[in-house]
Amino acid sequence: MKGFEYLQDELDQMEQDGVYRSLVPLETDQGATVTINAKKVIQLSSNNYLGLTTHPRLKLAAVRAADQYGAGTGSVRTIAGTFTMHEQFEQELAKFKHTEAALVFQSGFTANQAVLASLLTKEDVVISDELNHASIIDGIRLTKAARKIYKHVDMNSLEEALIESKDYRKKLVVTDGVFSMDGNIAPLPEIVALCEKYDALIMVDDAHASGVLGENGRGTVNHFNLDDRVHIQVGTLSKAVGVLGGYVASTRAVREYLIHKGRPFLFSTSHPPTVTAACQEAIQVLLDEPERIERLWFNANYLKRGLEKLGFDTGISETPITPVIVGDEKKAHEFSDKLLQYGVFAQGIAFPTVKKGQARVRTIVTSEHTIDLLDQALEAFEKAGKELKIIK
Ligand code: PMP
Repeated sequence: MKGFEYLQDELDQMEQDGVYRSLVPLETDQGATVTINAKKVIQLSSNNYLGLTTHPRLKLAAVRAADQYGAGTGSVRTIAGTFTMHEQFEQELAKFKHTEAALVFQSGFTANQAVLASLLTKEDVVISDELNHASIIDGIRLTKAARKIYKHVDMNSLEEALIESKDYRKKLVVTDGVFSMDGNIAPLPEIVALCEKYDALIMVDDAHASGVLGENGRGTVNHFNLDDRVHIQVGTLSKAVGVLGGYVASTRAVREYLIHKGRPFLFSTSHPPTVTAACQEAIQVLLDEPERIERLWFNANYLKRGLEKLGFDTGISETPITPVIVGDEKKAHEFSDKLLQYGVFAQGIAFPTVKKGQARVRTIVTSEHTIDLLDQALEAFEKAGKELKIIK
């Protein structure tokens, strides 16, 4: 069919520039190793931080829920698609997060969009870190409020933006808790202090800290003991929690308002019972098996130290997200391809996900990697890195 040739031209150009990427289908479940093209490789690209995607308790909860409540819900939450388990889970989440209330969305992406698009008016301003996640950027595109961007984790730049914003009705400062491409942690105590000084509200997107930082994985806010000083926490159920979804943990008023005005909540069908039941079980597992988080951090430090010893540039990472910065787009993808050849699945990440010239291979270890697997991965990194002259 004719009409979209211009798209093919752009795709051809991407291929020539070495940035065209095919999807990589997994032939097994999501574990410390996975099978790709009939070859078993070490998985260093998933967000399955705690191995919960395949936890027997989660799988059993999902199977039982499908059996008892069916495969789908048949409606959006606000019409006929709220089951008692949805509300129960939200109460459990709020308790876990030490907040008054919580509301679950189809994904972390839509949770961010719902909050940013609906809570502010044209009399307000949103102030955002320049490296915040795409879902925050898109949410901000949908808000009627004024927008300001501050330099990445730069407190002088944030303070300037707050001073310039003094005449707005409400100021909302939004930051990722852990930044997804560099693995650094936002300086939340400083951000909170500035927000309190200038009377601003704070929203933290804790996608990569949920299940990773804080007591039993409660997130960045809990990690810094700021439980009562951050107004909105957004989290994901799709990464360490091992299933799918996003949530907003905040006050009862925010929850009720989002039920009435959050467009993804209003206009998109609710999670199937399998998803909600598995998420409920995952929160229990976080409480029952804190040793998973300990193993995750041990493995993260082991891999990071190993990569640094080999001479790789791991940037400013402080969490289990460890980038290996290469710079050139094409080379980062070549590096990733070579790693796959040598038995490691670590995706290359380039513009527009990161700035031009900052291309990288991003690694994420999980609690399920053994030291033996991590040693094998380091050997592959050494071999591929030397061949491509990324290290000496
Ligand atoms: N925020 C951040 C910082 C993320 O990394 C992601 C996932 N890529 C999201 C939000 C979106 O979460 P989800 O995958 O649940 O939509």
